[in-house]
Amino acid sequence: MVAGLLERLGVAAAAYTQGDNPVHTPIDGSRIASVKLLGKADTIARIDQAQAAFEAWRSVPAPRRGELVRLFGEVLREHKADLGELVSIEAGKITQEGLGEVQEMIDICDFAVGLSRQLYGLTIASERPGHHMRETWHPLGVVGVISAFNFPVAVWAWNTALALVAGNAVVWKPSEKTPLTALACQALFEKALKAFGDAPAGLSQLVIGGREAGEALVDDPRVPLVSATGSTRMGREVGPRVAARFGRSILELGGNNAMILAPSADLDLAVRGILFSAVGTAGQRCTTLRRLIVHRSIKDEVVARVKAAYAKVRIGDPRKDNLVGPLIDKLSFDAMQGALAKARDEGGQVFGGERQLAEQYPNAYYVSPAIAEMPAQSEVVRHETFAPILYVLAYDDFEEALRLNNEVPQGLSSCIFTTDIREAERFQSASGSDCGIANVNIGTSGAEIGGAFGGEKETGGGRESGSDAWKGYMRRQTNTVNYSRELPLAQGIVFD
Ligand code: NAD
Repeated sequence: MVAGLLERLGVAAAAYTQGDNPVHTPIDGSRIASVKLLGKADTIARIDQAQAAFEAWRSVPAPRRGELVRLFGEVLREHKADLGELVSIEAGKITQEGLGEVQEMIDICDFAVGLSRQLYGLTIASERPGHHMRETWHPLGVVGVISAFNFPVAVWAWNTALALVAGNAVVWKPSEKTPLTALACQALFEKALKAFGDAPAGLSQLVIGGREAGEALVDDPRVPLVSATGSTRMGREVGPRVAARFGRSILELGGNNAMILAPSADLDLAVRGILFSAVGTAGQRCTTLRRLIVHRSIKDEVVARVKAAYAKVRIGDPRKDNLVGPLIDKLSFDAMQGALAKARDEGGQVFGGERQLAEQYPNAYYVSPAIAEMPAQSEVVRHETFAPILYVLAYDDFEEALRLNNEVPQGLSSCIFTTDIREAERFQSASGSDCGIANVNIGTSGAEIGGAFGGEKETGGGRESGSDAWKGYMRRQTNTVNYSRELPLAQGIVFD
């Protein structure tokens, strides 16, 4: 099954049959491939090639660079169903979400193609006569991309589409849990390269490897930008190492996303928003709803409605007609059970969270989504457990709800459901939510590519995808030109 898919996606059989590192699907835990893990020396060799490619690519006009990304978008459209299915098999996402992830790749390609004609700099009024000033945006160099298992293809595409139109080369180290989708992306990109014709060899490189490969990317001074997506633990290691050599990083780390549910809210809408945000991708999105901060007057009703909705959620093979697929592995299941035990210790009342389908799939980890009603925002609530656990906290006044929203170490996504315009505006104001994403009457997950994506505090502060995130992939140069016959100095300084 996987062999047929990979063949259609253009991946050579040797790449997934001849390694000694097994790849398992979370759907039933079976072994579906084996890949070779690359280490430090291979990573350095790929950076060498990428550096050479960069030196040619940076001089190709940006709209022509956009043409390569346009072709890649076309290839992705052609292979959307197969790549989406592979995402389901390797990461356990339901079909709709697997396809949605590929659609995100297509969307960012379209965005980047437009951008390739809009890498604008400013023209600035000079204080000196006969002078003009401007800002120019130049390509940066080799961009290192480190990605997490839960968005195995979209995160790479967000970075790569922008990096390529910006004139950079890319070296990608995907999660060791999802090498097959990475091999498929690389094969599809090579198809686009072929159609393009004359791109430099080695423009986009793939390193299937573990931590050692990631570290080689992080430490290499020829990689001016490392865009790293994963846990806060990973960011704590990567961020300071890149900074120590004065490199730049875009860190996209853990979230602990909340919804404030106000008494005026449209509860039908809110319950649907909770369901998708808290349960989608089996709670394994960085933007998953993890905390429900609900007004005490409606708490019991809301919890009852959410429990009723949870009871109807179909759990099982993500390629069949189910809404919740498996957790990625046993470690993830153990972490979830540990968090639920801790929630009980901290005074919580837990509903759901049990293992499901264990007889049918002894080597896979399906769970029913959990709700934990908590007496306070205790330690377990402040921690991101990458599984479907929704902590419920009651509030009495709006200031308290805002405080609870912000009183966690992470700052990725947040939302409020309300029909009170004062609350909605306050939530999005300077004294409102402290997160990178703050929505009104929409859940915390499911962002569009047009906006800049990322979060504050322990989420790392990076921004990628839309808006002006492209600036992170380029270097800014300030240019002053003197077209006069004098040499006046700035600030009126006389130096005769
Ligand atoms: P992870 O941190 O275990 O691994 C992420 C990547 O980092 C992998 O490719 C891994 O090999 C690499 N890595 C780990 N340690 C490294 C090191 N010292 N040096 C270099 N590379 C290293 O994360 P995961 O379990 O794959 O993904 C889940 C986490 O990712 C969650 O915390 C989730 O919130 C986060 N995430 C964040 C975003 C975002 O945009 N903010 C998006 C997706 C996932």
